[in-house]
Amino acid sequence: MSSFDLVLKGGRVVDPVYGFDGIMDVAIDEGRIAAVEPWIDVSQGKSFLNMSGRVVIPGIIDPHVHIRTAGHRNMARVGVVTAVDVSAPMSDLLESTMEVGTGMNVACITSVHRFVREPRPSRSELDRMLDEYLSSGALGLKLIQEPLPHETIIEAIVAANERKAFVKLDCGVTPEGSNINGLRWIVEAVGSDLHLDIAHVNSYCRGQVEDPIEEALEAIHILDGKRNIQSESYFGIINGTNGKIVNGVPLNGTARYCLRLGGYPETAEGMKKALLDGYCKVSEEYRGETILLEGKEALDAWLKMDERIVSFPINIPSIAILLATRKDREKRFVINAFSTDGGSIPRNLIADSGLALVKYGALSLREFVIKSSYNPSRMYGLLRKGSMGIGMDADITVLDLERCRAVMGIARGKVIMVDGVVVGRGGTVITTEEGVKTVKATGLPYDIIDTRECGLYS
Ligand SMILES: [Zn+2]
Repeated sequence: MSSFDLVLKGGRVVDPVYGFDGIMDVAIDEGRIAAVEPWIDVSQGKSFLNMSGRVVIPGIIDPHVHIRTAGHRNMARVGVVTAVDVSAPMSDLLESTMEVGTGMNVACITSVHRFVREPRPSRSELDRMLDEYLSSGALGLKLIQEPLPHETIIEAIVAANERKAFVKLDCGVTPEGSNINGLRWIVEAVGSDLHLDIAHVNSYCRGQVEDPIEEALEAIHILDGKRNIQSESYFGIINGTNGKIVNGVPLNGTARYCLRLGGYPETAEGMKKALLDGYCKVSEEYRGETILLEGKEALDAWLKMDERIVSFPINIPSIAILLATRKDREKRFVINAFSTDGGSIPRNLIADSGLALVKYGALSLREFVIKSSYNPSRMYGLLRKGSMGIGMDADITVLDLERCRAVMGIARGKVIMVDGVVVGRGGTVITTEEGVKTVKATGLPYDIIDTRECGLYS
């Protein structure tokens, strides 16, 4: 009689937590890991999959994405099994998961800027906002985009810390801007008492203030040993920024910097020229997929867009590699996790670029698993993810090391992607006790976590 739903036969199983690295069989039952052993008879499974020549690891978790609609497909296709949207309102995430979900586990934290009307929200306004986000099902809040005063930023972090809600910050929200000065200020302001997650460290090492390598080394230096701060960095060369024009000038400081870097005037005209030249691109979602438009097409799309997210090729590969691989004296990664800031923007590169580093020898496969699954699971307090011990969620990514690609994604024991073809539907929503009522109402399966257990607080 078969006792497992699925058996994965003969893959190289790599799980740093349990110390596995060898040819093993993995049995899955009712969405959980039921056994990991050198030999499990196929007759014990209702079905089995041959994993020979493949590497089987705990499912990839992308801790920083913007899913919108196409993100579900873009990510599942490249082996992402769990993704955290770090700005959407929860209602958008629930809606897209119901409509075009690809079976991944999804969660979100919501951007303050979407709801802030006055330049300086009061503490009670921030508390009200946090209540609203948590009861909508989100895990906490994100500080991003238009600069807020120093005191407001700190007040928002304190408000989240008091509730032990998740709180993430993009240095673009500081008056110093999205650069090394912004990072320096926030790390100092947070000190050793407050708890904070800092988004995409790469973005502050683009050479706005000093030489980019100097900036990356400084970023590493200031984050080294800060146990109350966690962070991630991405691989993409292109960024994604708000290309909105207000009074003839790009609203966003990063957009202005990108234009300056490319030798374009920091005006609407400069933006148009950059679009026509292909220096600036526009991601457009079409039938659930993302296309990166260039030239005239990009300009036309940009003119029509309400939320004008544009992409410039301004991230520096050597900086991405430095931030991805740097360890402290205790051999822990200074930047906790790989991320992409992808989702809808087509730069979902954890498997492709991360495995290229493994192939090159810059990281071991074990370290790849730590940065792509275990560490991000701890960052969000996803204690049943990030490893393949008995009873853990059966979230698995299967890799083809030779081609540096993810070739299968399994979420909660269900295959969601095979060879780049997405076969999953819907998704499991990760929420807190406070948000469960809202999530339950959608009929989507859900998982309750306690944000007190996320890496910020434990
Ligand atoms: Zn982002």
